[in-house]
Amino acid sequence: MTTTPAALLPTTIVGSLPKPSWLAQPETLWSPWRLEGDALAEGKQDALRAAVHEQEHRGLDVVCDGEQTRQHFVTTFVEHLSGVDFSQRETVRIRDRYDASVPSVVGAVSRERPVFVDDAAFLRSQTDRPVKWALPGPMTMVDTLYDRHYRSREKLAWEFATILNAEARELEAAGVDVIQFDEPAFNVFHDEVRDWGVAALERAAEGLRAQTAVHICYGYGIKANNDWKATLGAEWRQYERSFPLLQQSSINIVSLESHHSHVPVELVELVRGKKVMLGAIDVASHEVETPEEVAATLREALQFVDADHLIPSTNCGMAPLPRSVAQEKLTALVRGAALLREELAGTLQR
Ligand SMILES: [Zn+2]
Repeated sequence: MTTTPAALLPTTIVGSLPKPSWLAQPETLWSPWRLEGDALAEGKQDALRAAVHEQEHRGLDVVCDGEQTRQHFVTTFVEHLSGVDFSQRETVRIRDRYDASVPSVVGAVSRERPVFVDDAAFLRSQTDRPVKWALPGPMTMVDTLYDRHYRSREKLAWEFATILNAEARELEAAGVDVIQFDEPAFNVFHDEVRDWGVAALERAAEGLRAQTAVHICYGYGIKANNDWKATLGAEWRQYERSFPLLQQSSINIVSLESHHSHVPVELVELVRGKKVMLGAIDVASHEVETPEEVAATLREALQFVDADHLIPSTNCGMAPLPRSVAQEKLTALVRGAALLREELAGTLQR
């Protein structure tokens, strides 16, 4: 079904890529679509085709949809669920960081029909390489809504986990090789991560044969996130709380920020045994990394993760970046991984 990726250091991106300007306003999160109806459906597929082509052309090993068919990584999933009313909005504090007007949970939540399965099948039809699909994680979904019904973050997370598991099983059946859950909330609500967050994540991933990944980051390079990061001090040790729990969990891959972040790279040791998707590309800067910089970031991590468990990646999604910058960053990632792969091959031969 799929070709074998690079045996060592298979490259992939966290998820989103900039959308073409004819589809949505560039360099904007939650950007409104510029097409409607059938033209929008066709436009999304064309953008997905272009995203796949760009990744293949630049040499990425595991290909994503670039989130070309979604407006937002959480909201687009939630829009397809019943029990959530988008007309009843409340202002809540997202990840303890910024206020946003969010929809309300007004009744039992359920998935009436598959959300992304057709899009994933289309992605599968466009490439022979392994494909990865990202879903929001249960805790991050809870944190993006106002709950009038369950009145319990844990209960609502558990309901979402069950829904996500049904979706994930259908994505797997559509040919998705890696299913990734985005849980930026794991960097904020440490007690909840311990009490029920990891359990809910494992529930979402239960019974899957596809590889499972969790992506935990410090967010897109938008102002609210950059301001928050400025308050975190010289060392960002948030992963220290979640990683030991994830090391003990059923999740196969842990995706984290590294390049240009203040995360001490030795924290990678805390998930020893898991595969590590290491961010070697800064998504908050327009400056394109050199292949040597990418290789240096990856090389440093090799003290804490075995080479056959290291997956070179980006810190987060690249949706807000100018398209040309994101594309050049793809090339930098691939070339940096290739440099290190050559070095490792040389070491093995000696
Ligand atoms: Zn992220």
